[in-house]
Amino acid sequence: MDQVQKLLKRIDTYGEQMIQAQRELVAIPALGPTSGGEGEMKKALVVQRWLEDLGLTVLHEDCPDDRVPDGVRPNLWGVMPGGDGPTVWVLGHLDVVPEGDRSLWSSDPWKLRVEGDLIYGRGVMDDHAALVSGFFALKALKEEGMAPAGDVGLIAVADEETGSAYGLEYLLKTRPEMFSPQDLILVPDVGEPDGSFIEVAEKSMLWLKVTVRGKQVHGSTPHKGVNALYTAARMMIAARELAQGFGAADPLFDPMVSTCEPTRKEAGVSNINTVPGRDVFYIDCRILPGLDLDQVMSAFEQRFGAIAAEEGAQVELEVINRVQAPEATDPKAPVVQALVRAIQRARGLEPTVGGVGGGTVASFFRRLNLPVAVWYSCEQSVHQPDEFARVSSMIADAKVLALIYAGQA
Ligand SMILES: [Zn+2]
Repeated sequence: MDQVQKLLKRIDTYGEQMIQAQRELVAIPALGPTSGGEGEMKKALVVQRWLEDLGLTVLHEDCPDDRVPDGVRPNLWGVMPGGDGPTVWVLGHLDVVPEGDRSLWSSDPWKLRVEGDLIYGRGVMDDHAALVSGFFALKALKEEGMAPAGDVGLIAVADEETGSAYGLEYLLKTRPEMFSPQDLILVPDVGEPDGSFIEVAEKSMLWLKVTVRGKQVHGSTPHKGVNALYTAARMMIAARELAQGFGAADPLFDPMVSTCEPTRKEAGVSNINTVPGRDVFYIDCRILPGLDLDQVMSAFEQRFGAIAAEEGAQVELEVINRVQAPEATDPKAPVVQALVRAIQRARGLEPTVGGVGGGTVASFFRRLNLPVAVWYSCEQSVHQPDEFARVSSMIADAKVLALIYAGQA
């Protein structure tokens, strides 16, 4: 058996230890202060102990935050020194989302429940599985006496679930010299259950509130009023039409096009025989990267303004949320290619490289022109009651990461 096979075989034996590691993490509800929690320090110290037990030096770039008892939000990393190869970074986050409606959980969200291959608890998938796989891949190298091809760093950050101002955004602002475009940066935080999806791009996000004002009249005399609901309906149809003009189809994404979808609708009149004089609805726009959201906004203003004028109504557009996506990571970037080869070798899978409609922390790297791949085996249990992860997936992901660490991808 060659050394790489021994490395992968060793990872197969880690199931019980991974469960124990998850048990330790789940028992610490690392909620940020905006979620009513005390922050991530207790959990950070657990990860720090793991890394120190491997003989790694742990560094911190904690962000001051006087809303939490420790006064800081922890961002830490340990680096295993390697050869001349590119530095590999694996970044996971310490914080979790609240339990939500407790009655929807089958067991205590803060106490790990194990059922065969499945483990349940808040955070087991998002994002403990990333920290656990990243860590056990390092442990396997250490126990096999193998040096990584380049330095390998495992990073644990705070505040991913509530904006990252105290987490990755702070780390990148304070330590910009830590990362180079030659590094292989992996963010295990989005993916498919079988680990076959590698995210390299994100759409921009624009959430709009549309308020239409007309003139309320009796339902029997619509010609005397201005129907705000009818006007809004015309705008909803126009929104989908406008979306078709926002960029050429990009096969990285599913769907390949920009989408502008009417979603929420506020209640209007409660009776049937009144023509409403006011209507409020919302549009969730996911726009292909490379398109300027200012242009999208002015297209909406023009088109909706024209519809309102035709109907004799007024329209007001309000931006509820706006995130301009950075340029995509090149699917040919070394980090993506290494990941593709490692997934093929460790899992016998042909991965898909593509984009997603939502935002991840990878955008903070991409804004600095640092190529980054977002990937892991992710169940659709994230942020849900009975959040679960699979031990077999953590083992499989640790193998993929170990191949990359060892320069064997
Ligand atoms: Zn996450």
